Amino acid sequence: MANLCFIGVGYVGLVTGTCFADLGNNVTCLNRDREKSENLKKGILPIFEPGLEELVQRNHQAGRLHFTTDYGEAVANADFVFIAVGTPSGQGGEADLTHVEEAAKGIAASMVKPTIVVNKSTVPIGAGDFVAGIISRYRKADVDFAVVSNPEFLREGSAVHDFMNPDRVVLGASDAVAAQKVADLYTPLKCPILITDLRTAEMIKYASNAFLASRISFINEISSICEQLGADVKDVARGMGLDKRIGPAFLDAGVGWGGSCFPKDVKALEHMAAMHGCHPQLLRAVMEINKDQRRRLVMKVRNALGSLEEARVGVLGLSFKPNTDDMREAPSTEIIHHLQNEGASVRVYDPVAMQVARRYLNDRVEYCENAYEVARGSDALVVVTEWNEFKRLDMVRIRELMRKPVLIDGRNIYEPSEMKNLGFTYMCMGRPC
Ligand code: NAD
Repeated sequence: MANLCFIGVGYVGLVTGTCFADLGNNVTCLNRDREKSENLKKGILPIFEPGLEELVQRNHQAGRLHFTTDYGEAVANADFVFIAVGTPSGQGGEADLTHVEEAAKGIAASMVKPTIVVNKSTVPIGAGDFVAGIISRYRKADVDFAVVSNPEFLREGSAVHDFMNPDRVVLGASDAVAAQKVADLYTPLKCPILITDLRTAEMIKYASNAFLASRISFINEISSICEQLGADVKDVARGMGLDKRIGPAFLDAGVGWGGSCFPKDVKALEHMAAMHGCHPQLLRAVMEINKDQRRRLVMKVRNALGSLEEARVGVLGLSFKPNTDDMREAPSTEIIHHLQNEGASVRVYDPVAMQVARRYLNDRVEYCENAYEVARGSDALVVVTEWNEFKRLDMVRIRELMRKPVLIDGRNIYEPSEMKNLGFTYMCMGRPC
């Protein structure tokens, strides 16, 4: 059993800290916000993530998972300190390292024994050396430390499962002994562990996210070509995905990618590349295609209604993907903005993200209790997030409640022929309707 400390208690810090506690380690999670910390002790979580609440409560009660706001209490006793703070986009698209820097200073000031600092945040290439430099400069005594990069690959919505069943663990360090000690923490998970240098580990994270975003943008470009040429992108993706060299994942055409990672990570990689004299044309195209997807959806609503002026548009789904309440860079916010800019009034519903959505959309939209309320009196209904709940709606009732039966399926969750038979004017992404 090792003593672990996690700095940053968001999607990554809280999930990985709790899962490491569940593997038998003694874990302290450090939060800056006292109220959040007190709530966590009572089992009240700041985020929604399937299975996490029960895991936090169980490990807290078992005395393996602790919450504090005090760096001294969290760091002094730890053998490993994980940095899991946010690295949002800066003004030029670069990753903003303010929180990482603060965390490194906090660690330096509180370290009293040899410590391995593990960077889980997604950070620009070279940030491991940056963290090491800060700790060297600000540590109080001459305490030994090593920095290990350990990028995180969990997906919101299945984060606990992903942590417990990783495809791989990536570690980067110049200190092989420190890297091996971190690798030992993961041995119960029985997965391939790749140990490399700091910069390569940091790049693996950016390259992985950029590649996944590229796959989605690729199929979205194919979907708009399908639309013009009368092919069905769903079958195209299925046919491509059966090829073992391609595989089926991340080939769903729709309104594009969003969330807290892909947008900022693709931007940050493009920024780093450009700053170092490269021409990241593919990354730029990947981002541009993604923006186009939002515009394509709005264009479909406009085409179906003639004009958006004074139209009532219902939006189903607000979170950037199902099974999370995360609204960061969610396609819904951009789509709602475009719809309102053209004069539409917007009514919304999401199974989980309603509370978080209020912080992003304020009182600019009408919040509804359920999908049927959204449909009531709407001129068009737009599916933005593919929650399972929306796949099982009583579509006859939905159509009857609407003022005009216009259904724009931004995630291809319905069958075009069925929707047509039910009397909808139905449009989707890249399929003949
Ligand atoms: P988040 O915003 O959910 O959580 C970050 C937490 O860090 C917040 O609770 C914030 O209050 C806290 N924090 C910031 N500065 C702090 C400080 N100095 N001391 C203590 N706490 C501090 O972010 P997240 O989604 O968990 O992402 C964290 C990092 O992991 C990012 O770099 C992200 O790119 C990366 N990542 C995220 C995911 C994901 O799916 N969310 C997946 C893989 C990697």
